[in-house]
Amino acid sequence: MNSIKKTMTNPLDQALDARQTMSGLIFAAMALRNKNIAPVKTIPLTILGGFLGAGKTTMLNHLLQNPGGRKITVLVNDFGKINIDAVMVESQTDDMISLTNGCACCAVSSDLTKTLIDIADKEEQPDAIILECSGVAEPGSIAQIVLSNKAIRLDGIITLVDAETFFERLEDESSQQLFINQLTSADIISIGKTDLVSDEEKQKINQWIAKHQPNKAVLETVEGDVPTDVILGVEADHNLEDEKAKAIKKTNHKHTFESVSFSFDTPFKEEKINAFIKNLPAHIIRAKGILQIDSDLDKKMIYQRVSKRWSLKSDEQWGNESPVSKLVFIANKGSIDKTQLKKELEEALYD
Ligand SMILES: [Zn+2]
Repeated sequence: MNSIKKTMTNPLDQALDARQTMSGLIFAAMALRNKNIAPVKTIPLTILGGFLGAGKTTMLNHLLQNPGGRKITVLVNDFGKINIDAVMVESQTDDMISLTNGCACCAVSSDLTKTLIDIADKEEQPDAIILECSGVAEPGSIAQIVLSNKAIRLDGIITLVDAETFFERLEDESSQQLFINQLTSADIISIGKTDLVSDEEKQKINQWIAKHQPNKAVLETVEGDVPTDVILGVEADHNLEDEKAKAIKKTNHKHTFESVSFSFDTPFKEEKINAFIKNLPAHIIRAKGILQIDSDLDKKMIYQRVSKRWSLKSDEQWGNESPVSKLVFIANKGSIDKTQLKKELEEALYD
């Protein structure tokens, strides 16, 4: 495990920080005289996008378990302050870079630009890069950042959707535009969690995609189980001019969604934390966590919530790591009562 922690010390970081606009970033990336040991457009990068809770981390882990002989570098971007997705990917690979504390298509786009330059400048390049976007990211904006790097080729954009919440996302005013943008950018649309819906519901989703997003490859998946060769090596045709010209109505997701994060170094009481999880208000779109619970102090418990569905599953041992429970909640901006959540969580702790 040697996940790379970013430091913000060199002039390149500062220069990039000063140009937070999309065009500024592209200009910065192109103007930089980077060493680029890798020949032009030789490292393929795959964008794994999709709304909060669509199953991106599950699919990513599946790909890493079945790399088909490829040396894969993964970039994991989480919207929350605590990168829980990164923790869940870390055990699967030695080559992970975490982009934390903001979305890579806007808030931490300079980190992404810099990270891609660093990868291209390495002595030994990966055979493939997979970038797991935050759930609120616009894959089209990420694509522009990727295409601005001389050494990297955008292999494909995979957008994951959750079969169970597909129409909920389309009907919810706060998420519909972003959701449609994520579909529009895709080369492949992967409909996940198809085991959770009826055949009729699946058909409705397929019909909607055929009508509104024609000529897209569509995959139905369960638990992110797709052959790696279907996702990597797509060789889709992307270029910067086209991506810029695409008339996508950009969302201002920084102002639409918010996340709150908590960490605790005392374990939770099983009964109390279960009650908290069951009673969490319905407007929390996404929650995730790694918890220590008194029913099994040695093992990590993974908490996942997407819309109204949630699960709490036992995972690997804490081992040498000192157990710290971490939780992230994401909802529409202004709708999370942080003080109340904190109070309820503290009441569920062991005393
Ligand atoms: Zn963004």
